[in-house]
Amino acid sequence: MRIHKPYDVVVCGAGIAGSMAATAAARMGAQVLVIEEEGYPGGSLTAMGTGPMMTFHAGEKQTVRGLTDEMVERLKKKNLSPGHIVDSTGYTYTVTPFSAEGMKRELELMMIEAGATILYHTVITGVQTEEGRLRSLTCFSSGHTMQVSAKVFIDATGDGDVLALAGAPLKKGRDSDGKDQPMTMNYKISGADTDTIRRLMEETPEVFPFLYPKAGIQKKAPRLSFSGFQDIMKKGIADGEITFDRDIVLCFETNTPGELIVNMSRILELDPVDPFQLSRAETEGRRQVFELFDFMKRKIPGFENTQLLFSGPRVGVRSSRRMVGRYTLTGEDILAETKFEDGIAAYGYPIDIHSADGAETDSRFLREGGYYTVPYRCLVNDEIPNLMAAGRNISASFEAQASTRTSPCCGALGHAAGCAAAMAALGGVLPTQVDVQRLRRVLSEQGAVVD
Ligand SMILES: Cc1cc2nc3c(=O)[nH]c(=O)nc-3n(C[C@H](O)[C@H](O)[C@H](O)COP(=O)(O)OP(=O)(O)OC[C@H]3O[C@@H](n4cnc5c(N)ncnc54)[C@H](O)[C@@H]3O)c2cc1C
Repeated sequence: MRIHKPYDVVVCGAGIAGSMAATAAARMGAQVLVIEEEGYPGGSLTAMGTGPMMTFHAGEKQTVRGLTDEMVERLKKKNLSPGHIVDSTGYTYTVTPFSAEGMKRELELMMIEAGATILYHTVITGVQTEEGRLRSLTCFSSGHTMQVSAKVFIDATGDGDVLALAGAPLKKGRDSDGKDQPMTMNYKISGADTDTIRRLMEETPEVFPFLYPKAGIQKKAPRLSFSGFQDIMKKGIADGEITFDRDIVLCFETNTPGELIVNMSRILELDPVDPFQLSRAETEGRRQVFELFDFMKRKIPGFENTQLLFSGPRVGVRSSRRMVGRYTLTGEDILAETKFEDGIAAYGYPIDIHSADGAETDSRFLREGGYYTVPYRCLVNDEIPNLMAAGRNISASFEAQASTRTSPCCGALGHAAGCAAAMAALGGVLPTQVDVQRLRRVLSEQGAVVD
């Protein structure tokens, strides 16, 4: 067992939340280690093929700024993202396409420049707790077992692995039966004829249900997102060509013209935190990808000359464990556009629940331009007060998580968690004892929107 020097802050997982947390904490002067099981950062955005980032805006107001927006600006300068552009599905305000390879590099650079130490190819496998505090983590990499200690830990693993290992209070799935949103194996294709799809959006906007009321907005989108062709999907299912439940074609152009993310497979009834079920989700997801790719090439206009670039690489997990923290954000809070006194992130994405039972998506929208804030209390818990949550595993109900789970919000939550962790570690207090109004001022000074 190798024992490593103690750190101020250890960030577990380098998805968008973990990368922002590590960068923020290191910029505040903390000694930071970020542990990631893959060999690159970005998590869902780079390892599960998800994207575009959706959405930095609530109407005209940009609610996600600060570090997460800085990352987009850096990508823009290198032509790795067109920045925030109109969402031509019509579902929300803006989308932010990006090059996944570019994002891997940029997130890594931000962490390194800030002075954080990155430990890739390392899985957190255990924890040591003492008197209600997390003292250290056991990690495994390449035949080595390591022990890493810190004053403050941030669980940004998406699935809340460290919270689970430490015995923190957790919830999972919807209240009625514990089922999570379905997993999806996203895949990328090249060679899509987006001019043909743009023409159809112009001539038959009714085929694209979210676009229809806002017909014509696609003309302002330098990269195309579209959601439609329900009749073709319905017939495909009736004819037995599509063997799983999915009601709509949903595609997003990446930074590369003609390259599309296809967000359509639907894997039901499998538990993302059971390794055998997760493995079945991978094989079922890949089966669905090949079925969809073949079907869409034959049936969807503009897809005739597409090539399959890659799937995943990992099956996408929308929801799994959620910490039960000092406060649990609810769907009602979101729809009431609640602004909390201890708000640390502002967000306007709807509640977007992909059904755990079948094809549909249950979307509950805020008013045009409406947004809510996430209270700091959703990042901390009283049982293990030096272990914070950031990203899609924060303290939120099943419904609320269906909004906060999207990546701009996860980035903003990571930014806030990183600042708070550094303030706690350097100030000799627990994250639960951080001066929240000072934290909010620091975040505002760093460009974040907190009210
Ligand atoms: C199919 C699908 C489509 C989506 N589409 C969109 C979209 O269009 N737009 C959008 O904004 N959002 C979308 N999302 C949601 C969004 O991508 C994620 O919820 C968000 O990026 C999660 O970020 P995170 O940092 O909290 O977690 P993750 O991205 O899951 O990052 C967690 C990181 O922790 C690492 N890790 C996990 N366990 C361990 C361990 N034990 N030891 C070490 N490392 C570990 C992982 O390797 C990973 O890098 C989608 C999600 C899915 C599944």
